[in-house]
Amino acid sequence: MHNELKSGEFWREIPGFSSISEETFLDPNWQLHHAITSIPMAEAALKGRDIPPAVFADLAKAQQVVPMNIRITPYIFSLMNWKDPQKDPLRRMFFPMFSQLILENHAMTLSDSLSEDEDSPASQLTHRYPDKALFLALAICPTYCSYCTRARLIGGSTQTVQKKTAAFAPKAGKWESAFNYIQETKSLEDIVISGGDVSLLSAEDIYYIGTKLLSIPHIRRIRYATKSIIVNPMKILNDNDWVDAIFRVRDFGLPLDKSVVIHTHSSHPSELTEITQRAMRRLFRERLIVRNQGVLLNQVNNSAENLTLHVRRLSYLNIQPYYFYQHDMVPGCEHLRTPLHETIMLEKAVRGSTAGFNTPNFVCDLPRGGGKRHVATYEKYDRLTGISMWQAPAVKNKIFFYFDPLHSLSAEGQRLWRETDAQSLIEQTMGVAYA
Ligand SMILES: *Cc1c(COP(=O)(O)O)cnc(C)c1O
Repeated sequence: MHNELKSGEFWREIPGFSSISEETFLDPNWQLHHAITSIPMAEAALKGRDIPPAVFADLAKAQQVVPMNIRITPYIFSLMNWKDPQKDPLRRMFFPMFSQLILENHAMTLSDSLSEDEDSPASQLTHRYPDKALFLALAICPTYCSYCTRARLIGGSTQTVQKKTAAFAPKAGKWESAFNYIQETKSLEDIVISGGDVSLLSAEDIYYIGTKLLSIPHIRRIRYATKSIIVNPMKILNDNDWVDAIFRVRDFGLPLDKSVVIHTHSSHPSELTEITQRAMRRLFRERLIVRNQGVLLNQVNNSAENLTLHVRRLSYLNIQPYYFYQHDMVPGCEHLRTPLHETIMLEKAVRGSTAGFNTPNFVCDLPRGGGKRHVATYEKYDRLTGISMWQAPAVKNKIFFYFDPLHSLSAEGQRLWRETDAQSLIEQTMGVAYA
């Protein structure tokens, strides 16, 4: 049931956390300092739980090929079902197994699938839409999602991907070119402050960035993007300086008629517990609006039953379900991608199950910078090859394409992709050149 939240000292079932008191477990810094960042750490935490060595070998082998490092807060690690790790959705999201990966990327994957670097007029800023922009303040997170759309820069280098994470480290003066661009660009009203995860910015930086942006006359709305409500709710409960900084920024905006909200990222209802409820209660009583952006993930959340439960649980906690995304076309994620037709079916199933204002938009953020589009608004969709064609008149005068994962296609569809070069296949099926 959506209102039955996991409670009690569930972490004590993990041998490594069996002696951890509630007071310690609810310390956000304890969560950060004890995050699981390697296979030996996971093995040590689970020592005595009778987990076959093959499981750890499988997890270790994945680390040799995946684009994201692992970092899992003890909170999330404790919510994984270690009695059946192969099937557990949270384990699948944060701790990949080699045996479950699809090593062959779709021919059309791109490491910067959304062309964020191309649409970047200033360092750490992406400006694609007329009145809103995305500011990437930092490149680290309290927990890494294996399906990260910014795996090209977030989280530190892996064995297969070199990243310039250090270039994003917050330091004095480095955000000024982004702020200058925002100041000069009068069409901008709305800034997303993301990364990375703003929960790893200091309280001073939260206040500095927020008041700096709200002081620009044409900026009307800002959003702080943090997954901490989901992976380290202790941050909201017990880091008073940080939470107060958010409230002070909100208070700075109020007399100016400017809004300050939080956007978070939950992709599975099991992430939401009684601890999340306590964290959300604190924000709700301060009238802070929190919205959620989730990602559709194969064999994690792609069923009508699961999404309906998720949407209702988010609503119960006063988190507004804002978006569910079609997975971006980034490499290393084929096993998690789902086809467009399934998303349309899921939207049909979820709509009507609860209040309209708590019904998320199911969107596809178009590869190569077309922006977010409702999934049912494609121009053309060929189910055999899984190619869909899109337009985004408010964003760019261009044709865009999305591609279903090969594992969702018929044998004939898969054969076409293997035997035809991508450009010709797109041109043959859509009647338009890929340019
Ligand atoms: C998602 C996004 C935004 C914000 O879009 P909303 O649909 O308003 O949430 C702004 N800029 C970029 C580049 C984005 O990707």
